Amino acid sequence: MAVPKRRTSKKVKNQRRTHKKLHVPGLVECQNCGELTKPHHVCKACGHYDGKEVVAE
Ligand SMILES: [Zn+2]
Repeated sequence: MAVPKRRTSKKVKNQRRTHKKLHVPGLVECQNCGELTKPHHVCKACGHYDGKEVVAE
């Protein structure tokens, strides 16, 4: 099995990990009630999407 010739330095290790971070999900305000919802999803609080009621309460 191949074994690394040199120990990876802290600098190289940290440079590699700059791309590894937690993804924060985007949230938008509902046009109807102002509740934070996922974009392109029906609002859970009031059932509106794109300013129209699509799910009856
Ligand atoms: Zn809403």
